[in-house]
Amino acid sequence: MYDDNFDFDFENRIVDREVQDSDTEGEGENSLRPKSFDEYTGQEKAKRELEIYIKAAKLRGEPLDHVLLYGPPGLGKTTLAGIIAGELGVKFRVTSGPAIEKQGDLVALLTNLSEGDVLFIDEIHRLSRQIEEVLYPAMEDFAIDIMIGKGPAARSIHLGLPKFTLIGATTRAGQITTPLRDRFGVTLKLELYEPRELALIIERSAGILGAEIDEESALEIASRSRGTPRIANRLLKRVRDYSQVNGDGAITMELTRDALSLLEIDELGLDNTDRRLLSSMIKFYGGGPVGLETLAATVGEEAVTIEDVYEPYLLQIGYLARTPRGRVVTRMAYEHLGIPYTEPAAGDDAHGQLKIE
Ligand code: ADP
Repeated sequence: MYDDNFDFDFENRIVDREVQDSDTEGEGENSLRPKSFDEYTGQEKAKRELEIYIKAAKLRGEPLDHVLLYGPPGLGKTTLAGIIAGELGVKFRVTSGPAIEKQGDLVALLTNLSEGDVLFIDEIHRLSRQIEEVLYPAMEDFAIDIMIGKGPAARSIHLGLPKFTLIGATTRAGQITTPLRDRFGVTLKLELYEPRELALIIERSAGILGAEIDEESALEIASRSRGTPRIANRLLKRVRDYSQVNGDGAITMELTRDALSLLEIDELGLDNTDRRLLSSMIKFYGGGPVGLETLAATVGEEAVTIEDVYEPYLLQIGYLARTPRGRVVTRMAYEHLGIPYTEPAAGDDAHGQLKIE
């Protein structure tokens, strides 16, 4: 039934896709990060395409076309970009949209590149318009125009750049401006992973961490990881800790289930925050439709965070639906929460005929 505690703890959710401090502590993400296509599980379509483009670029002795990767956080965009650079045998430079504050920051990055290098810009949708304008000629003509001086003495210098490959990452392709999007030769969407793929990732990570795990337990963690490798690795570490303290170190099914129930992650990977999000929609808005902005205000989160981080999985498992009038909780979600489902009033098309946007 209802959980009356509507405090939303959006910080440090174990099932959050964004990077958390604990991901980078100790044997951090880098040690678990695959270094080659062979180690990179899943995303077969993206891998196949990239392997061809990389081979072709190498044959021609030219840099790879600029690549845009998009998909929810934690699906392996940074990892894939690093693998691309490795396969090309070039340097991998990493930055992010918010880190580039001034045009000069980007100019410094670009002028320090060598021929063929990969420049990775995470969260590329967060670049300001002014900075994007430096990027356009850099991507298209491998050149930038810099203004030197002020007033009447100001002049523009045309500066050639080494031919480089830009790899941009964003959570949604629609978030970046059309002129920027048009300058990428290759655009690839990363999909949520299947549990069996995540189970392979978990087994590989367990090997690196020196933890013993059986297939069944790996699959159990996988099916609660919201299709996201970052979450799978994080849950694995917590289950490993629990198994060390409560067992002989080996991860078993029983220990896995106990550890995950201690973390209050249910069999679908939903945590308290998801359950509260859904039950508050039911309690305060009769299950919807609720506009994204209203929902964001109710739970005290930004609309984009709800859209990028919380919603994709709830939509994927069919617990939320999008309608032109807002988000709607589905009958399946009511059943999962143990709340009796009530048909919407006549004339209300909220639940009955879902019009998908
Ligand atoms: P993103 O850049 O999309 O937020 P990352 O590339 O940082 O995601 O991936 C998060 C973590 O998940 C990485 O440290 C890596 O260990 C793991 N990971 C991601 N994709 C894969 C994959 N296909 N195979 C194995 N591990 C992966």
